[in-house]
Amino acid sequence: PEDDLLARREATFATAQEHYYDNPPRMERGWRHHMVSAEGRSYLDMVNNVTPLGHAHPRVEQAISRQLRRLNTNSRFHYAAVVEFTERLASLLPDPLDTVFLVNSGSEAVDLAIRLAIGATGQHDVVALREAYHGWTYASDAVSTSLQDNPNALATRPAWVHTVDSPNSYRGRWRGPDAGNYAPEAVQIIDDLAASGRPAGAFLSEPYYGNAGGVALPDGYLEQVYAAVRRHGGLAIADEIQVGYGRLGTWFWGFEQQQVVPDIVCVAKAMGNGHPLGAVITTRAIADRYRDQGYFFSSTGGSPVSSAAGLTVLDTLRDEDLQGNAVRTGARLNSALQALAAHHSIIGAVHGSGLYLGLELVRDPITLEPATEETAELCDRMLDLGVIVQPTGDHLNILKIKPPLCVDTTAVDYFTHNLDRALTELGH
Ligand code: PMP
Repeated sequence: PEDDLLARREATFATAQEHYYDNPPRMERGWRHHMVSAEGRSYLDMVNNVTPLGHAHPRVEQAISRQLRRLNTNSRFHYAAVVEFTERLASLLPDPLDTVFLVNSGSEAVDLAIRLAIGATGQHDVVALREAYHGWTYASDAVSTSLQDNPNALATRPAWVHTVDSPNSYRGRWRGPDAGNYAPEAVQIIDDLAASGRPAGAFLSEPYYGNAGGVALPDGYLEQVYAAVRRHGGLAIADEIQVGYGRLGTWFWGFEQQQVVPDIVCVAKAMGNGHPLGAVITTRAIADRYRDQGYFFSSTGGSPVSSAAGLTVLDTLRDEDLQGNAVRTGARLNSALQALAAHHSIIGAVHGSGLYLGLELVRDPITLEPATEETAELCDRMLDLGVIVQPTGDHLNILKIKPPLCVDTTAVDYFTHNLDRALTELGH
């Protein structure tokens, strides 16, 4: 019975293991942007950015099984699938980013990026944004100070990690037109570090502020901050794990929006459509410095099966024009959410771009008091209505809306219609 399975999960898993909902439906199958539970109930998945092509995409299933039937072993051997995928990935990045390391996950990619930066510069300090999330491994966790993901972050952060204020133009210290103040402050912190004899080896951030539900960085922010870190011999690392791969719509990579080119780019999540795969892409010169520390080897990172999945994901994104869909369907969704904001006073802001949106709920439009409990209630009510959507942000008052990139107009209309209904029922 269902209860039994949940109890067994709780008895076996660590209590820290996250799951959605107190009483989650048991999911058995998926198709495009839908999931079907063991009771045969269909749910619209508005949250899953690990499967950009949609659930159980037949092309990915075929690519994986074809390669798995032939051979799957580690990267010390030489395979066509791995070389073809790596070439395609590198071709999507601007010069001089042409050299690829393949890993299994986002956390590993961020860890490796930090290691590469320290190795190449000989500078051991890293500057990151406050209230960001970059992963769970030792180094990626150290640079993650999102209070939801790492409540002890401020206490346990090692001395090599330095943070600057996240440039949140909606609820941060500087809002709207004043958001231009964030970059000079970050530059000052980077300059001060260098003056104190500890120049940063890297500045690491998402090129689009994910933990705040997709608040765009102020224009020119990365240009100024990257220039500062490079002036002192450091490198610019972009975490594209959520925002890369066409999700923002107009741009394949988040950094393109800021008109900068990082020195090191981290990718994962969408790459394998659910199959574990991550990568770090950098310059030949930076990558070569890794050799000073030894060889790089990951038993399953970029295996032939993962690479076959990775290549098929890139082909399918192109063939199904999913980046174009992120522009078109994202615009429809965004304007429907803006329309809801006009008659539900709890909606403080609609953040985001393409199919990377965040609906920020506040109790008061002036004080911006976060509507945390209301957001949790809304997510539960949406589940009753057959829609999966979840809270994000340090106050858990932002609905994160990042459906598979194949989501269609029928689905987004269903979503906004039910969101309107749930907000009205809950008296907002
Ligand atoms: N960076 C960002 C921006 C992320 O969103 C995540 C995952 N939520 C990670 C890094 C870590 O990736 P993974 O869970 O694959 O280790």
